[in-house]
Amino acid sequence: MNRNASDILIVGGGAAGMSAAFAATSGGGTNITIVDDNPHLGGQIWRAELGKVRNADAAKLIEAIEAGRIGVVNSAQVFAAVSENKLLAETPNGTTEFEYKKLIIATGARERFLPFPGWTLSGVFGAGGLQALVKGGLNVKNKRIVVAGTGPLLLAVADYLNSKGANVVAIVEQASARNINRFALGLWNSPAKLIQAAALKKRLFRIPYLTNTWIANVTCGSPRVSKGVTSNAAIKSLSLNLNRNGKTQTIECDHLACGFHLVPNTELAALLGCKIEDGFVSVDGFQRTSLNNVYCAGEPTAIGGVEASLVEGKIAGYAAADNEERSRELFTKRDKTRRFGNALNTAFALRGELKTLADNATIVCRCEDVQYEKLAAFDDWRTAKLQTRCGMGPCQGRICGPATEFIFGWKPGPVRPPIFPVKLENL
Ligand SMILES: Cc1cc2nc3c(=O)[nH]c(=O)nc-3n(C[C@H](O)[C@H](O)[C@H](O)COP(=O)(O)OP(=O)(O)OC[C@H]3O[C@@H](n4cnc5c(N)ncnc54)[C@H](O)[C@@H]3O)c2cc1C
Repeated sequence: MNRNASDILIVGGGAAGMSAAFAATSGGGTNITIVDDNPHLGGQIWRAELGKVRNADAAKLIEAIEAGRIGVVNSAQVFAAVSENKLLAETPNGTTEFEYKKLIIATGARERFLPFPGWTLSGVFGAGGLQALVKGGLNVKNKRIVVAGTGPLLLAVADYLNSKGANVVAIVEQASARNINRFALGLWNSPAKLIQAAALKKRLFRIPYLTNTWIANVTCGSPRVSKGVTSNAAIKSLSLNLNRNGKTQTIECDHLACGFHLVPNTELAALLGCKIEDGFVSVDGFQRTSLNNVYCAGEPTAIGGVEASLVEGKIAGYAAADNEERSRELFTKRDKTRRFGNALNTAFALRGELKTLADNATIVCRCEDVQYEKLAAFDDWRTAKLQTRCGMGPCQGRICGPATEFIFGWKPGPVRPPIFPVKLENL
């Protein structure tokens, strides 16, 4: 087994983890390591395009990391804890044990998916998932794409796909126009965000933004024969039935990119025994968790966007490097980003109607092929899991867990190692 020892270990190389590392070096002399499961640093926003990042903060972070002041271990997924100050990660070269004096958890968030008839058809992607595939090289030029679900991520994804030559046919948002307008009006005290929002609106102004609207179901549409393509090679399209203010509207497209806001990745924190409250890791002003020498920053503590992750990362980094004065200077800024996050979560709260999208035959747990009808017979997550294998497949309930929590109100069960599937030889 490989071994790595650091004074400060940071799990997660996104905005929060990178800024934590950067702040932690400010004291000088500390041995800092970032471990991340992706081949490149940058997290959800920057990982595939670090070289082209326009954000000044990110550019500074990358420069510091490239200068070698911070150790980086990529393609390493932390899956278990062996003792109070040792974690295990699976890497392409087997297992590595990471020993630390202080730990900063910056594991980010993932998309929330809700099941509806047709969501398992080929051509239906997660919104951020399709964006990640395009960042990885998937060509979407001239593809008709509908981006649907809820949250500001839909706009970011539509903008990105648009910039890659896709024909974004519509953005389908379940939140009401009233909620969104109220949220937009609240941006007056964040001039930078207002400018960003205005620029985004300008770039997306040709794309219909359908509020109060959600996908009722998806079926395979009629094959589309493009010029020069024989009918055998016709492209299969999707036919989306939307519920729009109580009326049905149908849209044809090639791909559906769909996501319902974000779910925090709290598994590692929960595994270590950090206090989790209302689904988020509980932290104090210095981003300290309930465990000694364990800090948490970014989306696991609250879904608040990239600025919140950056500032929380800095606070945690300074605090872990015993530079609490510098941390304290950032409290006001962090509290402002938290207010923004709260407003965001209120504006894009899921409407009750989405609980009834799945019909009896709709698959809810995709790993184990468990249909809605089978789950509806149970009262809680644990019993449903034991009787149907829901949540016991490779994703370990990361997708169906948040969905069943929303649909049935089931509380997630305790987290056990390994938190990610691991090769037997690495266990
Ligand atoms: C799919 C998706 C796409 C998004 N796209 C955008 C966008 O285009 N624009 C935008 O403004 N916001 C986007 N967001 C929101 C964005 O993620 C946040 O605003 C911000 O990046 C959060 O930073 P973070 O550091 O908290 O988390 P992240 O950027 O998510 O970084 C966390 C990192 O930790 C790694 N990690 C997690 N668990 C482990 C583990 N056990 N072992 C090792 N590594 C681990 C993750 O792979 C990831 O690299 C997106 C979110 C998601 C889920």
